[in-house]
Amino acid sequence: MDPIHDAARALASETVALRRDLHANPEIAFEEVRTARIVAERLRALGLSPRTGLGTTGVVTVLEGARPGRTVIARADMDALPMPDAKEVEYRSRVDGAAHACGHDGHTAVLLSVAHLLTERRDDLRGKVVFVFQPAEEIVKGAAAMLADGALDDLEPERTLGLHLSSMHPTGTVSLRAGPSMAATDSFRLVIHGRGGHAAKPNEAVDPIVIAAQLITVLQTLVSRETDPVDKSVISITSVQGGTAYNVIPESVELKGTLRTFEPETRARLRERILALCDALVSGQRGRLVSEWREGSPAVVNDASATERVRLVAEGMDVVERVVEGDQIMGGDDMALWLQRAPGCYWFVGANGGPESAFPHHHQSFDLDEAALPIAVELFTKAILDALDT
Ligand SMILES: [Zn+2]
Ligand SMILES: [Zn+2]
Repeated sequence: MDPIHDAARALASETVALRRDLHANPEIAFEEVRTARIVAERLRALGLSPRTGLGTTGVVTVLEGARPGRTVIARADMDALPMPDAKEVEYRSRVDGAAHACGHDGHTAVLLSVAHLLTERRDDLRGKVVFVFQPAEEIVKGAAAMLADGALDDLEPERTLGLHLSSMHPTGTVSLRAGPSMAATDSFRLVIHGRGGHAAKPNEAVDPIVIAAQLITVLQTLVSRETDPVDKSVISITSVQGGTAYNVIPESVELKGTLRTFEPETRARLRERILALCDALVSGQRGRLVSEWREGSPAVVNDASATERVRLVAEGMDVVERVVEGDQIMGGDDMALWLQRAPGCYWFVGANGGPESAFPHHHQSFDLDEAALPIAVELFTKAILDALDT
């Protein structure tokens, strides 16, 4: 007998129906108005009193158990991506240029079902569960916006838990890792100002295209020659804009790029070195650099003992076939900010059930294996109960 398992199963069709509704009506970062309204309505129907409009569209509600105890944050993200949905399914996106291609529709539906299950068990519950429904994960701004808006005011959380459904793992697999598990993500914009002129008289110009070419290559040496090879980091230049004609040297070239790191010291050092090296190189070639740094999210760092607890909970579930050690991922997630408020674990739940749900995240044909949803509900619920009881 496993009442949580049975309850998650019993709620499966409701979880799937909500996920499909959200999937068909995706809303991108900071525009999750309909989604947030549905979340708040469902929470109110459970007898909870959600706070809405946090960091624009975030929703937070606190479930108080009958007995005193710990405070645990349970977080889900709600936003879709600004991209097409190319699937031929009945729940395909009805919104042009928006798609739930990362599975956040699933996260929202799963956490609502978890809230449902735990609310029913309020009389046996010790402590508090803080349910967080976050906007704008895809631009790593929603968590910061909610926190700045006082999402955790008057709360003293001791644990943070969250999950991401994953097409990289088969349904039935759970993947997790202690320590730094997802990278810090920063981005930058570099404008190289030269002096325009005739392509046939480069000596009378300062060619920002040649400077940009050197800069793109030399930036790679900051990772390959200045950073400990064991300490993973990535610098990628992802946009180069400049020039209009075959025979004109342009005035300027604009580069955009991203820095991914795990260690805070490496993050700070590479930021400084990128800017210093670019500045020196550009001025050494008679150009002028204007730079803009956009600080993103810190690394997702999982607490060792919290991760071990989730691992044990997952291993104890019949519907979980395999629990694997996750790889470090150079992608980021602003779950990091919630984890900075209270140590915890962010883990992956396999949602790849075959070719239809095997596309990578952010692919226009991305889909979830919905059989993963009740597994995620059961695991999330049990992990919260475990965190409250230990
Ligand atoms: Zn994503
Ligand atoms: Zn995501």
